[in-house]
Amino acid sequence: MKVKEYINTYNSKEEMEEYHLKAIDFFKNKNEIHNFIVNFAKHEHKDLLETKLKGLVVSVKDCFTTKGLVTTAGSKILENYIPVFDATIVKRLKNAGAFIIGKTAMDEFGFGSFSTNYFKGPVKNALDKDYVAGGSSGGSGVATSLADFPHISIAESTGGSISNPAAFNGVFSLTPTYGLLSRYGLIDYASSLDKPGIMAKSIEDIAIILDVITGKDFHDSTSVDKPVNSYLEEITEQRLKVYRLAYIKEYVEHANEKIKKAFFKVIEWLKSEGWIVEEISLNYVNEALASYYIIATSEASTNLAKFCGIRYGLEKDVENKYYEDYFSEIRAEGFGKEVKRRILLGTFARMSGYRNAYYLRAMKIRTLVIEEFKKHLYKYDVLLAPTMPIFPIKIKDTEKLSPHEIYSIDVLTVGVNLASLPHINIPIESGKFPAGLHIIGDHLKEHKIMSFAYFLEKNYPEIFI
Ligand code: GLN
Repeated sequence: MKVKEYINTYNSKEEMEEYHLKAIDFFKNKNEIHNFIVNFAKHEHKDLLETKLKGLVVSVKDCFTTKGLVTTAGSKILENYIPVFDATIVKRLKNAGAFIIGKTAMDEFGFGSFSTNYFKGPVKNALDKDYVAGGSSGGSGVATSLADFPHISIAESTGGSISNPAAFNGVFSLTPTYGLLSRYGLIDYASSLDKPGIMAKSIEDIAIILDVITGKDFHDSTSVDKPVNSYLEEITEQRLKVYRLAYIKEYVEHANEKIKKAFFKVIEWLKSEGWIVEEISLNYVNEALASYYIIATSEASTNLAKFCGIRYGLEKDVENKYYEDYFSEIRAEGFGKEVKRRILLGTFARMSGYRNAYYLRAMKIRTLVIEEFKKHLYKYDVLLAPTMPIFPIKIKDTEKLSPHEIYSIDVLTVGVNLASLPHINIPIESGKFPAGLHIIGDHLKEHKIMSFAYFLEKNYPEIFI
């Protein structure tokens, strides 16, 4: 059952209690196989009959703080960390009557594309447990895909972490414009890139949640005001009828043959329905990837300085220890291999002497990427591309890949994230695993891409769900 139906049909306190208990039971059983929940919340039986979300079961990526509930960001260093406040998004969801079922597993601090960098071992794909779940919001992708009850998951993207697992597990997702959703209470990876977002089994479900969690937050100076119209009304009333569409040539070329085939099937179908779809070209596809990894790791290397065994998480006896030795001891034990690699990479890129060659150059490329997208979005309402260039791979095969090879699979998602543009994943039939269709729009034009995605969801014959 979808969220909308649930909200409209829900009618008793007993029914809600039963729904919650069943959901907990279901996720607990599945967690033994898929390893996608870090911690379950304590079940509180409250009457939420009069609320907007009526006790809807929501899972939240483990990088959002939840008051009184352990929050690890996928890292051993925070294994026992209990936040004293709720992230703004969590607070708004609770105020609207959401039932937070638990925290979803992720790559440590968001560093990864497969959710194999989670401190409790790899998260396993919802469609086949031998395969990766995608990352870094792998747990949210798995939770959304597995749930056979009304449910949505809150995820987060820095360079593609919402779209990637949504594509790999066959669900819908929205990564909104940077600033549309508050980052207050988000354990940051790279502050200029981090964006909360939503995964669900339909675009309408995403719109219902977006209506609840948007709005200026005085704890986050980068957050923007709520739009005048509700997203749900915007998409269901189909106010916007004329769309100018284009697909990105280089992004399609990076995809494997099967994904390309599924992608062009959508394009051909759109054309047969009377849409005009043009082809556009981007200049800085590979440069965007390199630039992303320099900027993201530079920001991460400073953001992670706070994890030193004093204020949060892992702690040891400090007696008779020189502070640098103490920090090193804590960080050597608490951080995984990928975290250490990224701190080294980011620190190096920012060092005096290297700063101009790496960090500042990466920032210039970021500007070029933004300008190039803006130029196309002046002409087109919607840009289309495959979400991921490949299907999920076997978990055991990830060990054979070098870090550089793993970073390369983000080539289709980093550009839109560097440019802070809103994007949606739609799962398209393509055999065992679905192919992701990426729908990209201009800043704060979520309603446009959501209306278009809603149209496809309702009319395209080969939607995966
Ligand atoms: N795979 C990318 C990275 O490791 C993106 C991760 C993310 O968006 N959190 O940086």
